[in-house]
Amino acid sequence: MLIDINPADNQDVKNRFRRISTFLFLCGCLAMAVTAFGLIKDKNPLGNKEWQMPPIYAINTNIPAPNTRSEETPWNLILVNKWNTIPDNYEVELMELTNGQSVDKRIYPELQEMFDAARSENIYPIAVSGYRTEMKQKSLMKEKIAEYKAKGHSQEEARTKAEEWVAVPGTSEHQIGLSVDINADKMKSTGNDVYEWLRKNSYKFGFILRYPADKTDITGVIHEPWHYRYVGKEAAAEIYKRGICLEEYLNKTNQ
Ligand SMILES: [Zn+2]
Repeated sequence: MLIDINPADNQDVKNRFRRISTFLFLCGCLAMAVTAFGLIKDKNPLGNKEWQMPPIYAINTNIPAPNTRSEETPWNLILVNKWNTIPDNYEVELMELTNGQSVDKRIYPELQEMFDAARSENIYPIAVSGYRTEMKQKSLMKEKIAEYKAKGHSQEEARTKAEEWVAVPGTSEHQIGLSVDINADKMKSTGNDVYEWLRKNSYKFGFILRYPADKTDITGVIHEPWHYRYVGKEAAAEIYKRGICLEEYLNKTNQ
């Protein structure tokens, strides 16, 4: 049996079909336009014809991730002592002080701040020895040995005694430019006043008393109240507050 379709209804269905088709067509056009715009935008965000895709960093496995880099010893915490000699080809960029001494240029600003702070409290320190070359360290050792030999000691005895006072060349922190021997400007301060001020305040500027009296077994060096070593403010504060030495801080008591 045929279903009779009203001609008016038939026209209505056709119109509705046309409207839906038009709507779907417009939707399609819109989707294509959005996609095309998005692609163009990604390819050339600045509208610059010379723009190129950036390199993909993640693929290169030779570049260590940032968190593995931090495991290396930072420059300010390098350990130099009898058991840890200065690495070969160690390079230092120096800054010359007004009295002719030099230090690693990275420690200069805090060294200056420390001296300014001391002077503001009527304490007058002077930097008597900063960076030393290997040659200078050798000549200091030679002089010290000669001094003991002149007092009647054998060569061997003289060397042993000299090594209590002068670091064996290659094991002196002065050769890396991170240490400074600080004494008093004798016209204005006493040595004890300067040493006492430094002992209490140097950590605020990133410096530590490197060879304390109660750590000679660990450092291998006699008490030197004048020898200050830059380690940075964070390490200096911890070393000072815990009453430890650099070897203990680094957990490297190599004996
Ligand atoms: Zn020194």
